[in-house]
Amino acid sequence: MYDVVIVGAGAAGFGCALTLASANDKFEWAKDKTYLMFDNNKSDLNAAKYCNVAGVDFGINGVELLEKMKKQLSNFKACQLKNDTVTKIEKSDNIFKVTAQNETVEAKIVVLATGFHKFEIKCEGVEVKANDNAPKPNLIYIENKNNLIKENLYVAGLASKVPTMLSVASGDGAKVACDIFKQWSGKVAVVHDFASKK
Ligand SMILES: Cc1cc2nc3c(=O)[nH]c(=O)nc-3n(C[C@H](O)[C@H](O)[C@H](O)COP(=O)(O)OP(=O)(O)OC[C@H]3O[C@@H](n4cnc5c(N)ncnc54)[C@H](O)[C@@H]3O)c2cc1C
Repeated sequence: MYDVVIVGAGAAGFGCALTLASANDKFEWAKDKTYLMFDNNKSDLNAAKYCNVAGVDFGINGVELLEKMKKQLSNFKACQLKNDTVTKIEKSDNIFKVTAQNETVEAKIVVLATGFHKFEIKCEGVEVKANDNAPKPNLIYIENKNNLIKENLYVAGLASKVPTMLSVASGDGAKVACDIFKQWSGKVAVVHDFASKK
């Protein structure tokens, strides 16, 4: 059983996963939490290069940036990344059963970070709508209130209807992680690292 399963390892998925996993060695309540990200490699990063993302190498190719994010995540043993397509999410007795093509796992919390192209996962309670915050037609978002779809089911990134910039999508994933921290700890959790004094 995973504490959080994230569907989608694009900007939002990595923003969420890195924030979640970085808390494990900082708080008692986060110590043994486990995370899994499923992804089927269709992130918009694959088609892009980036010149306007703060702090990111000017002109970096999106494929290279994805590789950097994967490498960064590998520093955190609490989070696994698996290449698979999620097809169904069901909830019973407060536990989610997440079915992918190659395996089925259980999770206490699920985060949908599936982008704004389409949503083909069978999942009760998910309402898919036309995204009028997108630059062209036929793009979607998932109805949510402050990233929450229903209890323990969140949406992050372009799927939540944020503007289409990478740092916004990534930040939205991090924001959802902070919402989850608040749910776990009952207070605002600050997951920051401090530079050592020279
Ligand atoms: C050509 C292009 C150029 C761009 N240029 C810029 C730029 O210059 N500056 C900027 O800030 N932004 C730019 N962007 C936008 C930026 O890339 C997006 O805002 C960002 O990638 C959105 O992140 P996301 O996580 O919401 O979605 P994505 O990055 O698209 O990630 C969604 C992920 O979910 C996965 N997924 C979906 N369904 C499933 C499923 N059922 N099972 C498993 N995995 C699933 C997909 O495979 C994908 O990896 C550009 C985008 C494009 C296409």
